[in-house]
Amino acid sequence: MSEETINNRVAVVTGAGRGIGRGIAESLARDGLHVVCVSKSESSCGAAADAIRQAGGQADALAIDVSSGEQIRQACEALLEKHQCVDVLVNNAGITRDNLLFRMEEDDWNDVIHTNLTSCFHWIKALGRPMTRKRWGRIVNVASVVGLTGNAGQANYSAAKAGMIGLTKSLAREFAARSVTVNAIAPGFIDTDMTSELDERVKDAALGTIPLKRFGQVSDIAEMAAFLCSDKASYVTGQVFTVDGGMVM
Ligand code: NAP
Repeated sequence: MSEETINNRVAVVTGAGRGIGRGIAESLARDGLHVVCVSKSESSCGAAADAIRQAGGQADALAIDVSSGEQIRQACEALLEKHQCVDVLVNNAGITRDNLLFRMEEDDWNDVIHTNLTSCFHWIKALGRPMTRKRWGRIVNVASVVGLTGNAGQANYSAAKAGMIGLTKSLAREFAARSVTVNAIAPGFIDTDMTSELDERVKDAALGTIPLKRFGQVSDIAEMAAFLCSDKASYVTGQVFTVDGGMVM
């Protein structure tokens, strides 16, 4: 594939203000894509896009709340007007609202399902059609190992992540004839703000379940995402890649 083609590709990465999403955005920018960094706060996606530009890449910032279908639809309309097609979509924005089921409020259920899962439906619905018309596209959904195994205290989060996996497999089948691939990554414990909130006892217990005996780094996920978004992964679709130090085998 010519460098010119790659340099004309546009990627949207949600949750790109911090952590895994920011790492993915930086990797894609290093690969020559124009990256739209989406996050909830202006300051966080702004800083991510600035850092990419300072490193010589191309990036824009887009602050929206992905739990709102209306905000996603409006943002996609503007993006498609500007770029005609978004070639790569990484659905990474996510939150946790952990609690045991009997203590979980309905809002905690709805916030997690809307932010982590329903957002993927809206982004893919808005950006998938131009990809299928162009007969090239990459969609990567950042799920979690708990979408495969379940986790006590995370019924809302596990259900959302399992939903992302079902969505990935269904859309891989729907879009395959148009050379648009849809894959999921299921990270284990990765060092980010999300895991820094965990209690030390929980972190020690988690380490005991990881054969490689360490938490993963953002780059471990970003490298996998960059591969799945590249031309090299053209024969890979409908898959879930666990990147978890061997937790789930
Ligand atoms: P993080 O450090 O907490 O960052 C989350 C990002 O998502 C932030 O940029 C945040 O925006 C954005 N975001 C959250 N809610 C949003 C909303 N309503 N609208 C727009 N943006 C929103 O998270 P992370 O650890 O990097 O995790 C990234 C993804 O990986 C998540 O889907 C998570 O479930 C998944 N994951 C993480 C781990 C892990 O160990 N860290 C393991 C498995 C799966 P702001 O910056 O503006 O706040």
